[in-house]
Order: sequence, then structure tokens, then C-alpha cells
Amino acid sequence: RKAIAVMTSGGDAPGMNSNVRAIVRSAIFKGCRAFVVMEGYSGLVHGGPEYIKEYSWEDVRGWSSEGGTNIGTARCMEFKERDGRLLGAQHLIEAGVDALIVCGGDGSLTGADLFRAEWPSLIAELLKNNRITKEQHTRYQHLNICGTVGSIDNDMSTTDATIGAYSALDRICKAIDYVEATANSHSRAFVVEVMGRNCGWLALLAGIATSADYILIPEKPSSSREWQEQMCDIVSKHRKRGKRTTIVIVAEGAISNDLTPISPADVHKVLVEKLGLDTRITTLGHVQRGGTAVAYDRILASLQGVEAVNAVLDTTPDTPSPLIAINENKITRKSLVDSVRLTKSVAEAIHSKDFKKAMSLRDTEFIE
Ligand code: ADP
Repeated sequence: RKAIAVMTSGGDAPGMNSNVRAIVRSAIFKGCRAFVVMEGYSGLVHGGPEYIKEYSWEDVRGWSSEGGTNIGTARCMEFKERDGRLLGAQHLIEAGVDALIVCGGDGSLTGADLFRAEWPSLIAELLKNNRITKEQHTRYQHLNICGTVGSIDNDMSTTDATIGAYSALDRICKAIDYVEATANSHSRAFVVEVMGRNCGWLALLAGIATSADYILIPEKPSSSREWQEQMCDIVSKHRKRGKRTTIVIVAEGAISNDLTPISPADVHKVLVEKLGLDTRITTLGHVQRGGTAVAYDRILASLQGVEAVNAVLDTTPDTPSPLIAINENKITRKSLVDSVRLTKSVAEAIHSKDFKKAMSLRDTEFIE
């Protein structure tokens, strides 16, 4: 019987529990043993039954309606070093695991792909140092890896949505609705900072959904003077028409076209000094990642979990590691390494001020 393990890694995202639940149950349904790795890559580095646990069908009961990730997640520096990955390989073999499904962001999936690429040399070293037996070396020649994308940022190229993004978006919209009510009472302006790292998806979509007055995102930067003038023009036009509220959404990664970060404090200053508005800053922070997943994320995570199990069972030593995506409402398989590379190239394009390229790369949905 094959043994399939799942872990969640990097920043947590609502819907990760649905993903783990679907993976555990699909694996068992397909006649495999199901394992979970606790605390992301730290669990691999620590090893042992406390960190690499076999799960039964009942162990994931009710998980779809729980937020966060019940199997824990962590950032793990040791796994970035070869020695950490060597321990990880040893512990997976000791637990009898054949395949690993990682639910995380681009960092976690980069680590996963590296782990698979290095696997033959890792197990050769383990054998040489008598840390595994000859039989184990033969039995665990290949490690099948598959990625599912858990991230509130929706920042992975090649997939239309990542697990958790619509839940975070929903939370942001609700929070802005709350702020709007008090803004209206006092005729105030609010600058709302939202998460997303280098990606403006959450800020842009929240801005559309709440009809914000102005949105600042990393993919479409302008000079300081330009955005300030444009924002002031738009806000004063709205105010002249009798609007009592002003909402400006600032993405975490918002920048000017000289790559200077734009902070909520910068926006606050402009609204106060140029327009004389009574202005407050609201930083939503971790509220955005918390709470339960919206129905869309639960469904996405469940469907992708089933496909991830199918994918690891189909993968042969010669096929590239798959990443489970969604494109035009269909669950699809992409090359994990290409998806990660394309995602990184968006950040690189932004940093080299090639904003047009960044936009076009973000729009890329298919890799041939
Ligand atoms: P995310 O997956 O949300 O992008 P991080 O970038 O923090 O989050 O990555 C999560 C974890 O994945 C890291 O703490 C580390 O253990 C592992 N990881 C990230 N990048 C690499 C890498 N280049 N090589 C090996 N492991 C990595």
C-alpha cells in the first residue's frame, strides 16, 4: 500500500483544513495510507510519530468548517539547508511515506520541488552513512511531490485562485463595510491597509467590491506626484457630490514607480494636508487570515485535494511534479517548477521596474 502524506506550510490560509481533509480521505478511499506532517517542514526535520502521524477517516471529521490549519504550519530555516532536508528524507522513509503533498505558497512549493530534485542524492548519502538500509533505499527510490496552493494573497501564477484568497477578500470587504458606517457618521476618511505581499489582487478586488474611492497596488505604480494628484482629484470630486465617506485601500506592497513603498501614513498625510479631511488609518492585520473559509475556498480546496491524490498516484519518476490549479473553473494540473518560476518572475519584473511585463505575467494563465 502506498502512503501519502500532506503538510501545510508558510502563511496559513482559510480552506487549508478542507484541503487536508480531502487529501486524507481521498488517499484512504484509493486504498492508500494517509499521513499528516505537523508544523510544516519543521515536522519533517523533527520526524517521529509525534510529527509524522498516520490519520484515519475520522481524524479529519468536521474540518471543512474550521479556519486556519489544524496540522500547524511554520517557517522553517533548517529546511533551507541541505542537512535539514537530509533529516526530512530520513524521517519520511522511517515513517514509510512514498508521496508528499504540500499546501502552501511559492516559498513552500519551491522547497518541495528542491526536495524532490535532490531526493536521489539525499538517499544516497543516507545509505552511505547507514542512516537507512539498502532495502529502504531501493523501496524509496523516488519521492512523488505535488503542490496545492494555500495563500490568501492569490499571488501564484498559472492558477486563477489560491485556497484562502476569497475568504480573506470577504473578510476585508466586511471590515471595510464596518469602517464605512462609522466614516459616514463622522464624515471621515479611512486609509485601509490590506495584505497581499507583492500582489495587489486583494486590494484591487476589495476596492471594486466596496466601491472604494482610490486603490494603490504594486502592479500599477505611478510617480508620487501623479498618485497624490489623482487621488485628491477623485476624492474631492466625490466629496463635492455630497459623499460623506472616503475609503482609500493601500496594498501591503504598494509602491511608486521609483519603487519607494507607499505606506498608509503617506496616504494619510496627503488626505489631511491637501484635502483637510479628518482621516484615520485602519490596518486589518491578521483578521484577514482568520475565521472560517467561505464556501468557494472549501469547495476549491476539496476538489483540489482529490486531484492532488490522483496526481501523486499518476506521477512517474519522469513526469515533472504537478501543481494543482484552477483555470476557467476547471481543476487543472500545471508544472510546479514552471509555476513557481513564473511567480518569481513577476516579483523580479516589478523590482526591475518593468511593470508592463509584471502585469502580463500576472495574467498568464496557461503554460504550454
Ligand atoms: P510561503 O510558502 O507562504 O511562500 P515561505 O516563503 O515563508 O512561505 O516558505 C515557507 C517555508 O518553506 C520556509 O520556512 C522554508 O522552510 C521552506 N522554503 C522556502 N523557500 C525554500 C527554499 N528555497 N528551499 C528550501 N525550503 C524553502
